[in-house]
Amino acid sequence: MTQPGRYKIAVLPGDGIGSEVTAEAEKVLQAVSQRSGHEFEMEHGLVGGAAMDATGDPLPPATLDLCHASDAILFGAVGDPKYDDPQAQARPEQALLGLRQEFQLFANLRPVRVYPALADSTPLRREMVEGVDLVVVRELTGGIYFGQPRVEGNERAVDTMVYTRAEVERIAHLAFGLARKRRGKVTSIDKANVLACSRLWRRTVAQVARDYPDVTLENLLVDAATMHLIQRPRDFDVVLTGNLFGDVLSDETSVLAGSMGLLPSASLGVDRFGMYEPIHGSAPDIAGRGIANPLAAILSAAMLLRHSLGLEKEAQGVESAVSQVLSAGHRTPDLAAPEGASITTQQMGQLVIQALTG
Ligand code: NAD
Repeated sequence: MTQPGRYKIAVLPGDGIGSEVTAEAEKVLQAVSQRSGHEFEMEHGLVGGAAMDATGDPLPPATLDLCHASDAILFGAVGDPKYDDPQAQARPEQALLGLRQEFQLFANLRPVRVYPALADSTPLRREMVEGVDLVVVRELTGGIYFGQPRVEGNERAVDTMVYTRAEVERIAHLAFGLARKRRGKVTSIDKANVLACSRLWRRTVAQVARDYPDVTLENLLVDAATMHLIQRPRDFDVVLTGNLFGDVLSDETSVLAGSMGLLPSASLGVDRFGMYEPIHGSAPDIAGRGIANPLAAILSAAMLLRHSLGLEKEAQGVESAVSQVLSAGHRTPDLAAPEGASITTQQMGQLVIQALTG
């Protein structure tokens, strides 16, 4: 049995529904603490539009100091229509990039699980999506998003894609290590028939695979992968890919789950430190109404327990509590049938805590 530990968590609720859903995730962590004996010291920091209102800076130094002094970050969402001016020098979303760079968070994990109770909420037929349980591992700090863009007047623009062997190796090791704890399969997605970066990617992934003989490696070209992910989503376990393809494919896979309000994510670096957040944004259209689905934030807290604190049993406890609440038929409006009954953000949080402690 694990000895009770003491952990510090930086809580950055951010904007819009960010603070509403993060409040529920915090309560769930408090419930985990009471049950397990582990202590979570949760300290709040300003980020995004909320931080700009207070300090003019979307990622103030005090927030960075708090994160440095913590074991993990629980992040809500950033973005506020009042800061939408494309000419503005500072934008709330810059905080995300700043945190990724500061902590070298090179791996983005997006698990997608189709809950049996929600298999009819997706645009695909139930028999296609039932049992889907995959995780997209996207390289986050390299590739074309970090090249050297050049605009040559109105006629030409250039972006460059660079990957080094070391960058591919570290994300591949992370993906294979993860597959080992799951169903033992990695699908690496690239465009090796066209791109030099992808050929380096494929060679390097194959070399890393030799260290994991118990894990099966499958390679797919990205164009074919977009079809396979819809035609046979159950066959995927760990999907490993670069920054650009991962950006697109993780949005594609998120559709399989039924609602954005259900999907958590983790951004990880070289050690256990990580940042955990729902994949959705600040949803200004529903902010302040108490109807946002807090499950993505709660499941992000479960990922935090697993990846940064090493508390696997507690992580599974939260995930199974979420599953129970959904099986019992409770729905926030994003999941409810038209005209169907729905519950509030706080009620959903409370039900998860009851399932966890009951
Ligand atoms: P969004 O994810 O905020 O919302 C898209 C749609 O999904 C909206 O209709 C919203 O009501 C709904 N939705 C999202 N989360 C929900 C939840 N938990 N429960 C119920 N419904 C939910 O995306 P958007 O509208 O394109 O962006 C709004 C703002 O958020 C923008 O400023 C954008 O830049 C920002 N954003 C931030 C992040 C982040 O912080 N990581 C990610 C995406 C977008």
